[in-house]
Amino acid sequence: MFDSQDVINYLLIISRKMASHIVGYPRMGPKRELKFALESFWDGKSSADDLQKVATDLRCSIWKQMTDVGIKYIPSNTFSYYDQVLDATAMLGAVPERYNYTGGEIGFDIYFSMARGNASVPAMEMTKWFDTNYHFIVPELGPNTKFSYSSHKAVSEYKEAKALGIETIPVLIGPVTYLLLSKPAKGVEKSFAPLSLLESILPIYKEVIAELKAAGASWIQFDEPTLVLDLESHQLEAFTKAYTELESSLSGLNVLIETYFADVPAEAYKIITALKGVSGFGFDLIRRAKTLDLVKSAGFPAGKYLFAGVVDGRNIWANDLASSFSTLQALEAIVGKDKLVVSTSCSLMHTAVDLVNETKLDNEIKSWLAFAAQKVVEVNALAKALAGQKDEAFFSANAAAQSSRKSSPRVTNEEVQKAAAALKGSDHRRATNVSARLDAQQKKLNLPILPTTTIGSFPQTMDLRRVRREYKANKISEEEYVKAIKEEINKVVKLQEELDIDVLVHGEPERNDMVEYFGEQLSGFAFTVNGWVQSYGSRCVKPPIIYGDVSRPKAMTVFWSKMAQSMTARPMKGMLTGPVTILNWSFVRNDQPRFETCYQIALAIKKEVEDLEAAGIQVIQIDEAALREGLPLRKSEQAFYLDWAVHSFRITNCGVQDTTQIHTHMCYSNFNDIIHSIINMDADVITIENSRSDEKLLSVFREGVKYGAGIGPGVYDIHSPRIPSTEEIADRINKMLAVLETNILWVNPDCGLKTRKYAEVNPALTNMVSAAKVLRTQL
Ligand code: GLN
Ligand code: ZN
Repeated sequence: MFDSQDVINYLLIISRKMASHIVGYPRMGPKRELKFALESFWDGKSSADDLQKVATDLRCSIWKQMTDVGIKYIPSNTFSYYDQVLDATAMLGAVPERYNYTGGEIGFDIYFSMARGNASVPAMEMTKWFDTNYHFIVPELGPNTKFSYSSHKAVSEYKEAKALGIETIPVLIGPVTYLLLSKPAKGVEKSFAPLSLLESILPIYKEVIAELKAAGASWIQFDEPTLVLDLESHQLEAFTKAYTELESSLSGLNVLIETYFADVPAEAYKIITALKGVSGFGFDLIRRAKTLDLVKSAGFPAGKYLFAGVVDGRNIWANDLASSFSTLQALEAIVGKDKLVVSTSCSLMHTAVDLVNETKLDNEIKSWLAFAAQKVVEVNALAKALAGQKDEAFFSANAAAQSSRKSSPRVTNEEVQKAAAALKGSDHRRATNVSARLDAQQKKLNLPILPTTTIGSFPQTMDLRRVRREYKANKISEEEYVKAIKEEINKVVKLQEELDIDVLVHGEPERNDMVEYFGEQLSGFAFTVNGWVQSYGSRCVKPPIIYGDVSRPKAMTVFWSKMAQSMTARPMKGMLTGPVTILNWSFVRNDQPRFETCYQIALAIKKEVEDLEAAGIQVIQIDEAALREGLPLRKSEQAFYLDWAVHSFRITNCGVQDTTQIHTHMCYSNFNDIIHSIINMDADVITIENSRSDEKLLSVFREGVKYGAGIGPGVYDIHSPRIPSTEEIADRINKMLAVLETNILWVNPDCGLKTRKYAEVNPALTNMVSAAKVLRTQL
């Protein structure tokens, strides 16, 4: 017979061994409940209480779900009303002056003003979170920033879970990462280094830690993802400084330093594993698996925990459990049996929420996938297997799905594989150089100097969305649909002629999304119903899933472009999304390198380019809005990425005649570091987002970068409802004329007009065209 002590001991052994951890979890809810609650609150349609109720329910159901699965280390404070970095800013009381914060616990008022601006002050800046499609609110700090403990959210979430009987690990953005992601506040010297404020923020961290301890926390997780970047030695030293300084406050607590999005460079690994007050380290073992080699070669500190991120938080594929299991066994042999914790590679907020809500995917594809809820189960199954309680049925179902994915004819298309493989190592570019091409094009197009154009989309009205929806749902016939879209195109063409724009667009009324539109017509793509991922605040994106070799069964845009061209004597741009952007805005297969998938897409787009050309379209724009954002985090990998990304773009148009003008468009203003790759794309004309950073772009050309192709730096910001005046636009064009040749400059807005209203677009474009006309008379 067992006595009760035996039972308790047994339970202790089991619970110690089944070590599973989740870095973070999506906050939006399985059906974007938080999004709708936030937007209704912002619109004044519901109360703060209503919003809080939705948030509480979401947190509670996530914690319960992880508890039911059996996760041992469940995170708290990974929920956020807007953004986790903004939460840290609130915790530190680092509210920029313009919000008139006077102290006390920060409420929705100040919090959402910082996030979104209000009637009198603009929002804080937002930027991309590492190489994800999530955007965080950038802290604005200066030598005079006053810090005070102003949001007790971490503690109240911990207590909230505890009240439900659930023990959690409170998660905080680590102090060094917080500062490294900050920027100098307005009016502060650009050279100011926020990292110099380390001493000032640590006292707040100490207060939070003390409160968490008092509330009964036994672990605390500091997210320090900047550790995976190429840091300078003084930045690395800051980690030693910070955690040494916090050591005494942290005593009695287990401390986890969590990293993600890449492996930790050897230098950083040495520094953090030497930290005394830290009990465990979380590593991403999916992206660049070199940390594994480090653990093997450089060793792992005795008595500390390794949180092994073997379940991918950035993708939607089911884990290869057998392979993860053998990785884990190898690690266990190094770090010791009860010191290995199975975890996710990063927060699951970067993947979709729950496969259960996918009603349109077929069962075969579904068996290959795991969203956040399923990943939690995978983590636990691996932990159980390590503890000697392998769920054989679960593992063998997983193995069967893995092999069905490998052998499925839906995944492999030999012909595509061969064609893509043949591209590697060779170069593809147009035979004639760009200035000769521009001359040949000009003879045909006969454009004025400073030609005007737009980026592609025109305002998407409610009516338009309804027409597309009804067509999709088979509520209106194809004939009715074509008629409605044709009318819309006609309207947009006539409008552009009235405005006297030189190179026209059809307005993209048939597209709801520039990637989805193409994905739906290419093979190898699947679409979810609820596979939303937070992009920023309440905004979510629903990336397509690329599961198989990509091919183009038939022309995708020729019908509409031809129709649009037939309505006008002016050149009509054919409008395509480029391969790199399709890749970067999708969930990409993990069974072949990204560049191979990209080459396949490039070949499909190449066919479309050729069909457009054959249909008489003389100007073709291939958007690479997301080329810059796919840039790898580590410098050592950037050249390789840029090489295949730019090559993929060139593949799409290397075969066209000299007289066919290839345009491309890029969003995101940070081009200076990749300007040579942009030139290497060898497009005839590039239009770029620029309106929020004229100076930065101009400085590239001032520094003597030779640029011979056509270029249209956006002359006004389409992200704002403000209407720019003719003088203002002319002024900006003049600034560009000072550094660029007159004959290569184009005049255009900085992105598509899809999100604007006609009441804004009409006057803005009127002013844009008249600015170009005024300047033409002066040149
Ligand atoms: N052609 C697209 C449009 O105008 C480009 C959008 C983008 O760059 N994000 O909508
Ligand atoms: Zn754009």
